[in-house]
Amino acid sequence: MVNLTQESMVQVQGLVKRYGNFTAVNGVEFSVQKGEVFGLLGPNGAGKTTTIEMLVGLRKPDEGTALLAGYDIKKDINKVKEVIGVQLQSTSLFELLKVEEILHLYASFYPNHINIEQLVSDMLLTEKRKDRVKGLSGGQKQRLAIALALIHDPKVVFLDEPTTGLDPQARRTLWDIVLRLKERGKTVILSTHYMDEAHVLCDRIGIMDRGELIALDTPSNLVKQLQSSSTIEFHVTNPPEKESFLELDGVKEVGIRDKLVQLYTDELQKSLTALIHYTSLHNVTIEELQTRSATLEDVFIHMTGRSLRES
Ligand code: ADP
Repeated sequence: MVNLTQESMVQVQGLVKRYGNFTAVNGVEFSVQKGEVFGLLGPNGAGKTTTIEMLVGLRKPDEGTALLAGYDIKKDINKVKEVIGVQLQSTSLFELLKVEEILHLYASFYPNHINIEQLVSDMLLTEKRKDRVKGLSGGQKQRLAIALALIHDPKVVFLDEPTTGLDPQARRTLWDIVLRLKERGKTVILSTHYMDEAHVLCDRIGIMDRGELIALDTPSNLVKQLQSSSTIEFHVTNPPEKESFLELDGVKEVGIRDKLVQLYTDELQKSLTALIHYTSLHNVTIEELQTRSATLEDVFIHMTGRSLRES
C-alpha cells in the first residue's frame, strides 16, 4: 500500500508495462511534491511516454500503481482525470477550428474552467486567437496544446516532450511558460531528451534508460556525483585506443564515438597539458578542441556508456 505524505502530489510505485515479451517500463518509482517541476530525462525509447501514458490513464500498468493528488490510477481514474492536465506528443488539434473556438470547445467539457482570455494571453496567443489552428507555427501549436491542458485548472500538468521539433526561440518561450506554471504552484511532470531543458526547468530529474529509472536527484546533485568536473572534447582522424587517454593525468573516463573523443577529468589543466604532450609525442592531430563543465549529458554517458542523443 502506498502512503501519501502531506505535500506529495504524485507517488509512483513499481510501475511496469510490457508489450509481449518486451518490458517498456520496468519498476519505475518516484514521487513529486506539490509545486515541483519533475523531469523524466532519457533517450528515445527509454519509456518516458509509456510512463506518462500510464499515469494519465491512457495505458494500464501490468504491475504497480500511482497516486495523483491522492487518487489511485487503478481505482479512481475518473477522479485522476479531474485533477490532471495533459499535453501529449500526439495531441491532434482540430486544424480547421480557430484558437478561441477550440478553447471554448474544451472549456465546455468541464463544469468549471479558467478565464480563457487570460489563458490565451498567458500562452502568448492573443494575436493568434482568431487564427485557424492549421496556420499556427509548431511553437504556437504546442502553446495551444498546453492551454488546453490547463483549461480546467488542474493540479498536476503533464508535458510530454513539449519542445521536440521546435526552433531554439520557440523552445525558450516554452521554457518561460513552464517556469511560470511553477511560479503559480502547479506541479509539473515533463519528459524530455534535451539535457539543457531538464537542467533549466526541473527541480528534480529522473534519468530513464531502457525502461528503468537509473538515477533521481536535483540536476546539480546529479552532476556533482560525477567524479570528474570537466570535459575535454576534440576530434581526431584516427583515434588511438581508449587506454592511451586513460593514462593521461587527471583523466577519469574516456568516451570515443567515431572521430569525437571526450575526456572526463577533475584536473582540467593537468589533463590538457598531458594531452598536448601526448599528441605531439605520437604525432596525433587534434581539431576543434574545447573544454566545458560537466553536464547531465555526461551523467548519462557515465551511467550508460551511451549518449542521450543516441536512440
Ligand atoms: P520514450 O518516450 O522514452 O521515447 P516510449 O515510452 O515511447 O519511450 O517507448 C518505450 C519503448 O516501448 C520503445 O522501445 C517503444 O518502441 C516501445 N513501445 C511503445 N509503445 C509500444 C506499443 N504500443 N507496442 C510495442 N512497443 C511499444
